[in-house]
Amino acid sequence: MNIIVCIKQVPETTEVRINPETNTLIREGVKAVINPFDMYAIEESVRLKEKLGGKVTVLTMGPPQAEAALREAISLGADEGFLVCDRAFAGSDTWATSYTLAGAIKKIGAFDIVLCGKQASDGDTAQVGPGISTHLDIPQVTYVKKIEEVSGSKMKVERMMEEGFEVIETPLPVLLTVVKEINEPRLPSLKGMMKAKSAKITVLTQKELNLDPQKIGLCGSPTQVVKIFTPPQRAGGVMLKGEAGEVVTQLVDLIKNEVN
Ligand SMILES: Cc1cc2nc3c(=O)[nH]c(=O)nc-3n(C[C@H](O)[C@H](O)[C@H](O)COP(=O)(O)OP(=O)(O)OC[C@H]3O[C@@H](n4cnc5c(N)ncnc54)[C@H](O)[C@@H]3O)c2cc1C
Repeated sequence: MNIIVCIKQVPETTEVRINPETNTLIREGVKAVINPFDMYAIEESVRLKEKLGGKVTVLTMGPPQAEAALREAISLGADEGFLVCDRAFAGSDTWATSYTLAGAIKKIGAFDIVLCGKQASDGDTAQVGPGISTHLDIPQVTYVKKIEEVSGSKMKVERMMEEGFEVIETPLPVLLTVVKEINEPRLPSLKGMMKAKSAKITVLTQKELNLDPQKIGLCGSPTQVVKIFTPPQRAGGVMLKGEAGEVVTQLVDLIKNEVN
């Protein structure tokens, strides 16, 4: 079973600050971690490998420091890491990101399952997983909370719904995005940490991937950010106290004052 896990390095905090002049994230002073949902994808891939044999490959697209995320994944049980890193990919929106990652997956070679987190804690769009499956032209199952069985060339999974879950059987190869209910991620082992330290990380640039220049980076991104801003903090509300009748009278007065 060859499994490819897509992981994204994200700022540790969800309170991301934005530079109002450049409209980009302020990354200085913010610790980078593996996107929390991707930790569940890594864990599930290692469990599948332990059960069925095979290889786990971790893949990320990002700046050179994203290599640390790949090493952490190797310390958790992944076998090898690929870093897609090139100025040509800078400024990618979710379309260009998923096109580029799909290109990297084709380059890496034969696979049975691609695993992604359900969404990234910074971008939060949940579009990249489905985008990759579309570019690879393989089926996708999102919000997977349990892998029931893998047999031959198909697998059965449980997909989380708002109320209850769906049981879906899908042919392989397939792309799954996983939710946190799927497992409890392990901590890295000492052996894993030693392995991660010396593991070779393969860097893939546009030269190796040879992707359509019209579909990568900023110029290959059909979405345009018109404005990005931190919403102003809300002023505190007004608490009305008293019996129901009194509160209604106060409320009517307040609305009248507001209208005037
Ligand atoms: C309109 C728009 C414009 C943007 N412009 C820019 C820009 O100019 N510059 C810029 O730096 N960013 C930009 N971004 C952000 C960039 O597109 C996203 O960081 C990236 O596409 C991932 O999207 P996401 O964070 O929503 O991930 P999601 O779709 O929420 O992530 C889902 C899963 O996909 C996988 N995944 C996501 N990203 C990666 C990755 N990089 N490597 C490996 N796996 C991954 C992970 O498994 C993750 O759990 C833009 C985003 C949008 C929506």
